[in-house]
Amino acid sequence: MVSIEEAMELVQHTTPFGCVKKTPLLAALDLFLAKDIHAPINMPPFHQSAMDGYAVLFDETHQNDFVLVDEIKAGDNKQRILNIGEAVRIFTGAPTPPNANAVIMQENTSVKENVLTIDDILSKNKNIRLMGEQIQQNQIALQKGEKLNPAAIGFLATLGITEVEVYNKPKITIVVTGNELATPGTSLESGQIYESNAIMLQSALLKKGFTNISITKVKDDYTATKESLNTAIQENDFVLISGGISVGDYDFVGKALLELNTEQIFYKIKQKPGKPMFLGKNNKTIIFALPGNPASALTCYYIYIESALQKFIGNPAYQKNTIDHILENDYDKKGIRGEFLKANTNGTGVQILGSQSSAMLNTFAKANALIYLNEGVRTYKKGEVVKTFLID
Ligand code: AMP
Ligand code: MG
Repeated sequence: MVSIEEAMELVQHTTPFGCVKKTPLLAALDLFLAKDIHAPINMPPFHQSAMDGYAVLFDETHQNDFVLVDEIKAGDNKQRILNIGEAVRIFTGAPTPPNANAVIMQENTSVKENVLTIDDILSKNKNIRLMGEQIQQNQIALQKGEKLNPAAIGFLATLGITEVEVYNKPKITIVVTGNELATPGTSLESGQIYESNAIMLQSALLKKGFTNISITKVKDDYTATKESLNTAIQENDFVLISGGISVGDYDFVGKALLELNTEQIFYKIKQKPGKPMFLGKNNKTIIFALPGNPASALTCYYIYIESALQKFIGNPAYQKNTIDHILENDYDKKGIRGEFLKANTNGTGVQILGSQSSAMLNTFAKANALIYLNEGVRTYKKGEVVKTFLID
C-alpha cells in the first residue's frame, strides 16, 4: 500500500516517453515536438509589399513626385531596379524592387499622366516586409516540447514544412471485467447492471485526443481473464483494466497479471475512492488496473492515468498540479485515507457535491474539480483553503 503522493511519483517514474515518429503536419495537431525545428527558408523569402499602392525609391530631393515605370503584382518574378524618383505600381504580397525603400498605400496617392503624387510622410522601408523579418533561414522556428496548435501548424506550413518529429500517440486498450455487466441497449436481466466504465474511459481518452483505443469484455473467469490480458499486453502501450482487482473470490485480475510476469509497481493506494488500484509494467506495456466502481475508476483515471498519458506524448507539463480554492461547505473527514471529493468550482470557491459514493456518477456528471484532502481524520470548515485538481 502506497500513499497518494508515492503513487503519483511511481506512475510518472514508470511511464516512458513514447516513440518519436515523423508525422504529416495535420496528423501532428495537438502533439508535442520531439526536436527543435529550424527554418529551412527566410520568411518572407523576399522583400514584400505590405500594401496595395506604389513602391518608390526616395531620397531628400525626391519625396513627393515620382515617375511611374512599371507594375508588379503578387506572384510576379521581376527584379526591376529603380532610379531615384521612380515608382512602380505594386500590390500586397508582390516582391518590391530590390532597391525600393518605401511602399505608399494607394489611398494616400494620386496619379496624373504617369506621375505619382503622394500625400504621406516617407520613412525607410515603410510598408515593406523585409526578407527574413519573421524568421531567418536556420533560426529555430519552434522548440522541442512545444505543442502543435493550429497557428504552429500554419507557421510550419509557411516555411514549406510537411512533416514533423513528434512523440507518437499510444495504443490503448480497455479491458472490462464482470459477470454482472450487460451492454446498454440490451435488456437488463435480474442481477445485472449496465456496463458503463468502457464508454466513460473511452470518452475521457477521446477528449484528450487519444483515438487508438480498443475495448474487450471478459467474464470473471481466471483463464479467460489471463488470455485477454495476455493479448492486451502484447498489443498495446497502455492497458486499462476495469474491475476484478479487489479481494473478492472472483477478482482474478491481480493473479492473472502476476502469472503473466507483470512487474507490480504498487497495489493499493491509501485513498478514497480507488483503494485497490494496481500499477504494473510488462515489457514496455504500462498496466493500470482500476476498481470497477465507476466513480473510483474515473477518479483514478483523472489523478494517475491522465498525467501518464501526457508524459508518454512528451507534454513537458505532464504533471497534474493542484490549485487552491476556498471551501464553500463544511466537511467531516472521518477516514484516515486521503480523499478525492467530487466538487464544483467557479474559479474561487469550491463546493463539495452530494453522492460521494464510489458507485455513483450522478454528481460526478456535474463536477469540474476533485478536492484533494490529505491523509488523517479532520473537520474542514467553510472558508478554508483546500487543494483541488481541475477536471474536464
Ligand atoms: P469490482 O471492482 O469488479 O469488484 O466491481 C466493483 C463494483 O463496480 C461492483 O458493484 C460492480 O458491479 C461495479 N462495476 C464493475 N465494473 C463495472 C463497469 N464496467 N460498469 C459499471 N459498473 C461496474
Ligand atoms: Mg467485478
